[in-house]
Amino acid sequence: ESELAEFRRRTPRSAALFARAQGVLARGSEHVDPLSSPYPLFLDHGAGGEVVDVDGNRYVDCILAGGALSLGHNHPGLNAAVVDLLRERTGFHGHLDEFEVLAAERIIEVFPAAEAVRFVGSGAEADLAAARIARAYTGRRKIIKFRGHYHGWGDQFMVDLEVPGSGDFMAGGVPPEHYAHTVLVHPHRLDDLAAALAAGDVAAVISEPFGGESGLVPFADDFHQQAIALAHQHGALYVLDEVVTGTRAGIGGAHAVLGIRPDLITLGKGLMNGYPSCGAVAGRREIIEAAGTGLPDGRPFTYIGGTMSGNVLSAAACYHTLGELTRPGVLDSAIAVTADLVVRLNALFSTGGVPFFAYHFGTILRIELTAPHALLVEAERLPEIIARRALLADYMIPVVNAGVLSRMGRDMLSCGHTRADSDRVVNAYARLVELLG
Ligand code: PLP
Repeated sequence: ESELAEFRRRTPRSAALFARAQGVLARGSEHVDPLSSPYPLFLDHGAGGEVVDVDGNRYVDCILAGGALSLGHNHPGLNAAVVDLLRERTGFHGHLDEFEVLAAERIIEVFPAAEAVRFVGSGAEADLAAARIARAYTGRRKIIKFRGHYHGWGDQFMVDLEVPGSGDFMAGGVPPEHYAHTVLVHPHRLDDLAAALAAGDVAAVISEPFGGESGLVPFADDFHQQAIALAHQHGALYVLDEVVTGTRAGIGGAHAVLGIRPDLITLGKGLMNGYPSCGAVAGRREIIEAAGTGLPDGRPFTYIGGTMSGNVLSAAACYHTLGELTRPGVLDSAIAVTADLVVRLNALFSTGGVPFFAYHFGTILRIELTAPHALLVEAERLPEIIARRALLADYMIPVVNAGVLSRMGRDMLSCGHTRADSDRVVNAYARLVELLG
C-alpha cells in the first residue's frame, strides 16, 4: 500500500496524461500493460540504459521500447547519421535508395541464414510475409506453430493466444477459417511435430529460437536441429522468428549462436534500434525470390508490398544499427553485463532466502519472481498463471519506485547499459527482497 502511495506521489504528470490518453486513445494506448503499474509512465527522454519520465524521475530502462532499442536510448552515432539524412530525404517509394541495398548487404553479412532480404513494416508483417512466401514456394497450405509462441497479431498466428485461464480469445474478430491452416503443436514434443508433418500439406514450421516469449518457456539445446531435419524430411520449410533474438542472442542472431540453418528468418525490433517501419524477412535466395511486387514469371510468386517498407530512414537506421552492433566487443560486452547481472541477482535472491531466480539468453533477461512460468505452462496450470501475474504486479511497484522499469521480469538490456545501471537493478531487487523478508 505504501509503495503504491509512493508511486502515485512521484508520478502526478503521468497520471494526468494517462487520464487524457484514456479519453482519446483506444483503451488508453496499445503501450499499456494494465498490470505492470496502476497507470503507465510517460517518458520524456533517455540516453543509453537510462530514461527520465515526465515528472523528472530517473530509471534504468529494462523494457527498451519492447526490446527494440538494441543499442539503447538515443544512440549518438546512429541518431546523428539519421538526422543528417533527414535534411535531404524522407522517402522515395517507387524508386530506390542506396541505403536499402546497404542495409540488405549488412543483413546478409551479419546473419548466416540470409542470402537475400525483403523489408516489410514490422515484426508481425515479417512473420506474415514468411508464411505467405513459404506457401507460395511449396504450393502447400499449412503452417505449424508451437503453442505459446508469439509471432505478431496476424489472424493465423492468434490461434492459441488466450487471456490466460479466462477462456477469452484475445483475437475477437478473427473467424476460425482464418486460422484453419494453422496447426498447433506442443513446443517440446518432437513426436507431435513429426505427426503433424506426416499429416501432409505443411508449407512451414515457424518457431521462436529459445522457446515461447523469447525463452520464458525455454527449449532444449538441440531442439531446432532435430525439428529442422524433420521439417525437411517432409518437404516443409523452417522459419525462425528472430524478431527479438536477431540483435540480442549474439552476433548473427540465435541461429548463428545455436549453429542451425533455418530456411527463412524474420527480423524486426532491434534491427533499427527503435526507428519505425522495422521488419524484414530473409533467407535462402530462391525462396525469398517468391516475394514479388512485379509480374509473375513462372517461378513461385506472391505479392508482398508496403509503402513504407525499406524506406530511406528505416534502411539507414538498419545499416547503422547493425554496423554499431557488430563492432568488436559492443554486443559481447552487453551480453557480459547481462550475464554478470544474472549472477548478482541470483546471489541476492539466495542470500535473501527468496525462491526467485534469473537467467538470460544474450541480452534477454528473465527474472522469475514466482513459480517458474515454464513449469506452470507445461502443466497447463492456468489459474496459477493468473495468480502469478497479480502477484508480479504487486512486486513490480517497489522495483519501479527503486528506479528500474521492468516488464514483469521479462526484460532486456542494451549495449547502452553499464555496470552502474546493473548495480541499480540489483539495488532495486534488493529493496523487493527486503520488503518480502
Ligand atoms: N515475433 C516475436 C518473437 C515478437 O516478440 C514480436 C513482438 O513482440 C513480433 C514477432 C511482432 O513484432 P512487431 O511488434 O514489430 O510487429
